[in-house]
Amino acid sequence: MRQPRVTPIPLDPRVCDCCGEQSLESLWNYDHEAVTISDRWLFRVRNVICPECGFVFTPPVLNGAELLRYYGDSFTRFEGQSLDYDIEKRLCVIEQFIAGRELFVEVGSNLMSSFQDQLTALFEQVLTHEPNQSADSSCDGIDSIADDSVDGIAHYFVLEHVPDIAGFLREMNRVLRSGGIMICEVPLLSLYEDYISPLILHEHVNHFTQDTLACIAAKQGFELLHSSQEKCSRPFGFVSVFRKSSPVQVSVPKEYERNKAQFNNGKRQADLYFQRMHSARELVTQSDDPIIIWAANETSNRLLEGVIPRENVCVIDSSSGKKDFFSGRCAVLQPNAARKQIAKAEYIILCTQRHAPTILQNLETEYGKSFEESRIRIIDRL
Ligand SMILES: [Zn+2]
Repeated sequence: MRQPRVTPIPLDPRVCDCCGEQSLESLWNYDHEAVTISDRWLFRVRNVICPECGFVFTPPVLNGAELLRYYGDSFTRFEGQSLDYDIEKRLCVIEQFIAGRELFVEVGSNLMSSFQDQLTALFEQVLTHEPNQSADSSCDGIDSIADDSVDGIAHYFVLEHVPDIAGFLREMNRVLRSGGIMICEVPLLSLYEDYISPLILHEHVNHFTQDTLACIAAKQGFELLHSSQEKCSRPFGFVSVFRKSSPVQVSVPKEYERNKAQFNNGKRQADLYFQRMHSARELVTQSDDPIIIWAANETSNRLLEGVIPRENVCVIDSSSGKKDFFSGRCAVLQPNAARKQIAKAEYIILCTQRHAPTILQNLETEYGKSFEESRIRIIDRL
């Protein structure tokens, strides 16, 4: 099968969004090759910290137009999986802070769920916009929405992906009515030690704290009304609620020492993750014993990067949409089609820590298969 070409994503220059500083301190650099439906992409990730304010981000940043093409070609998340966010918490914040009931917009909604259904009960009109073309969108783009027309706009775990934060927030501000509300959820830097995925995901170009986000948003005319971890719909982030207002003056945070320590604590956990990955790779490349790898995802993609799995290795995923996930490098079987491989497997590599206990339990009840602890590798620490 054809190997798709590797597309290095062009880089655009970038200064600190929080304080404008251009002289930045390097924290962690790496290159990562990502696979999408029809392409391969080279991400050159350069994480830095601003010595003035402590904002952590990636300059030069991946070109915005190319990134949209990358997301458009990406696999839709959550396909056949349960939602990983708390709908009640989202609705609670919306009901508490958004007074108008005419138009609500969600940016980056990905697959529609009962969350969107419940929104339509609260507002006369709900628009969703998703750059991933394989997902559902009800409007073509934010630029198709009229000025001063929206009561509330929300973006959940979107802004950490956005290279031009100022431009993105200006658009949010433009479409909101005077006094309109913007709800933003993003990963929280201080939690990276417990949740490394926001740190190691190559797509993330911003690593926020509550104060750096508030400072950046203030410059685009957003006044902070509320910020907390408790009301955030995912455990590794925070929610901030802003009101559209005239440009707001806030002081630049002084978080250099703290943010650098928090980033490095996360990086130490990430190093452990990479060690587990390394040991699993050794198993895959050197052992002749039958091995099953569970889940076709970013983790197994990293595991198999540059590896052509041999006959003794089988990747299993319960989603039928994943069968070409590795673009021909390796087939992905659904559990029922892999009964033989499951029965004779000597090792299992679980690439999804969150579902690992359920998967091991199901293997025992549905296939009568169990593994000794020394034969189990779990490499996803999310
Ligand atoms: Zn700065």
